[in-house]
Amino acid sequence: MTVVIDGRAVTAGGEKPPLPATAQALYKKRPPIHPKLVNGRFRQLKWALMAVMLAIYYGLPWVRWPRPLGAPQQAVLVDFTNGRFYFFMFDLWPDEVYYFTGLLVLAALSLFLVSAWLGRLWCGFACPQTVWTDLFLYVERVFEGDRNQRLRLAGQPWSPSKIARKFGKHTTWILIAAATGGAWIFYFHDAPTLWPSFFSGHAPIASYLFFGLLTFTTYSLAGTMREQVCIYMCPWPRIQSAMVDQHTLQVTYRYDRGEPRGAHKKGDSWAGRGDCIDCHACVNVCPTGIDIRDGSQLACINCGLCIDACDEIMEKVDRPISLISYDSDFAVASRAKGETPVYHFLRGRTVFYGAALVLVSAVMVIGFSLRTPYQLHVARDRNPLFVRLHDGSIRNGYTLKLINRGYSVETFKVSVVGVQTPRLQAPGLAPTATDVSVPVQPGEERVLRLLVSVAPQSLAKSLTPAQIVARVDGQTLITKTAFITDGVTP
Ligand code: SF4
Ligand code: SF4
Repeated sequence: MTVVIDGRAVTAGGEKPPLPATAQALYKKRPPIHPKLVNGRFRQLKWALMAVMLAIYYGLPWVRWPRPLGAPQQAVLVDFTNGRFYFFMFDLWPDEVYYFTGLLVLAALSLFLVSAWLGRLWCGFACPQTVWTDLFLYVERVFEGDRNQRLRLAGQPWSPSKIARKFGKHTTWILIAAATGGAWIFYFHDAPTLWPSFFSGHAPIASYLFFGLLTFTTYSLAGTMREQVCIYMCPWPRIQSAMVDQHTLQVTYRYDRGEPRGAHKKGDSWAGRGDCIDCHACVNVCPTGIDIRDGSQLACINCGLCIDACDEIMEKVDRPISLISYDSDFAVASRAKGETPVYHFLRGRTVFYGAALVLVSAVMVIGFSLRTPYQLHVARDRNPLFVRLHDGSIRNGYTLKLINRGYSVETFKVSVVGVQTPRLQAPGLAPTATDVSVPVQPGEERVLRLLVSVAPQSLAKSLTPAQIVARVDGQTLITKTAFITDGVTP
């Protein structure tokens, strides 16, 4: 009897026949990558950046910023409950989401410009995936040793020592992941308030959900998936290929100098051969496990660690450093042809990205400098358009929205310009001869009914352009509107 499992016939012995060669070619087992620790300028730079970025991420929710009248004292806070985003001296409201759009556009353009000049600099030094993977690798080294010890450990059978090392590593990873998830939720609530309520079980349920989600993603992405995120999951390497060209400075193996490669013994001549001694030091330190000598690759995150490793080797064998360096394909090809390399920093794409960056920055700066905490919105009554009162005067009604986004009570002095001697009435408020004073609380959006009466003799047309003016805190807010009548003078 033939039994079919997973679409394949099972043999009499119960074993599945091997996959056909064509199908096997589609599968590749991922070899675990154990990058070796390297010392050098790029490694030092990465340590320094990692320390700064982690300190900012974990510490920022605890930074206080004085604000008046019971407003949150947290310097950076996304306050979903009250619909506000606080960033030091700035606070944005939901209807100002275009500032976030502008910031995202600025971030994208900066990334495009940096990529056009320096390839995946973001990926190698500043991307959270890289930063946390570096941190998790550091922990792995603490418990399991450097590359060779880790490789040995991986090949050893389970023993109390191996279990203890793995346990220590994974426990520390989980603690770091929990701290990362924990720090994230403090950006959405006042940190000193949330801290005790979180541990007493009284925090909002969303805090626990996001804490769990961020803990899980940090542990799995930085601990267990690592380079697979950069190579297979992240869309950025694919997008970035559209931004780089032959003049982009990327981590590059200078084949014009390195080839033909081969082992070299101390005292042997260097004549007729390249500087690469095929030691694989550059491969052993690579966090994505690639060989940069194969040329520019999607899996290269431009971290520069292979530069450090190769420089160390070059110094040992007494050859000039920078066999691997930040260089452009164009420069390497020029050298290979015996020409002096020329670097083109100003190219069509860099000029375009730079100009767009300056333009969007200018718009953002102008927008911010013109930003006011006070707003006036006017909607005139449409039904009825006007009312003729018993004394013959014509009355129009308007609905005003007065917004005070400052931190103190402000009085808006509302008047009407464009019609002669208007009489103002605002239910609940006493008008003066010329205006209506409206107190508005901090953070309040006060809706006001304004009735404006005008003697018909002063209205030459059935529609008179008018303006509603609000003066507040030294500022004048003007909204254009109209005063309507039937145009018939009694
Ligand atoms: S580290 Fe330098 S010398 Fe060694 S294999 Fe890599 S490129 Fe060649
Ligand atoms: S090839 Fe070099 S620069 Fe690229 S990821 Fe590997 S170590 Fe980093």
